[in-house]
Amino acid sequence: MWMTLRVLGQRLRGRKVLYQYYTNVTWRTCEQCLAWHGCIRPWPEAFPDPQDGCPRQLLQFPVRELGSYRAQARLMGDVVRRELQRRSWFREAEATLHVDGERALALLRQSGEVDVYLPEVERLVNRHQQTLQANPELRDEVRSILLSAWREKFAQPRYERLPERMRLEHEKGGAHHIEALLDQ
Ligand SMILES: [Zn+2]
Repeated sequence: MWMTLRVLGQRLRGRKVLYQYYTNVTWRTCEQCLAWHGCIRPWPEAFPDPQDGCPRQLLQFPVRELGSYRAQARLMGDVVRRELQRRSWFREAEATLHVDGERALALLRQSGEVDVYLPEVERLVNRHQQTLQANPELRDEVRSILLSAWREKFAQPRYERLPERMRLEHEKGGAHHIEALLDQ
């Protein structure tokens, strides 16, 4: 009912199209841009244009499709919440690896179930080089968690859109990189 009234309200104001904000949800998209992901507004000027390097796209759609775009916006919000949760797990793992290995491994596992990004893996390994060198068992665990998260990443639907050969090359290249980082 509320939705119907809202659509009607938009039409009465003579508006035929609306706009939805898209960014690309990755490890480096800033929180301000993530907060706009999926938001719907009546005109493009209603959105920020931070030009901060985060991808930004405004998608125009007919007012009569507001319902399905709002449903899409809810899914996009879920993706953003998962990414923010993933970051906080990964950051906590990074902060605790040298003092509480077990806890850090559990956090890495949780975060890897959402996604894993090579620049963050590099950061983690660089920060904890001494701990990892002194503790081969911990290093092996970290490597195996990150490798399986990496393989899982390429089994996700968004990677199925890549041509098979390219997907395999990305996957193999990344796996080699993780192995090299954690094989000291
Ligand atoms: Zn941004």
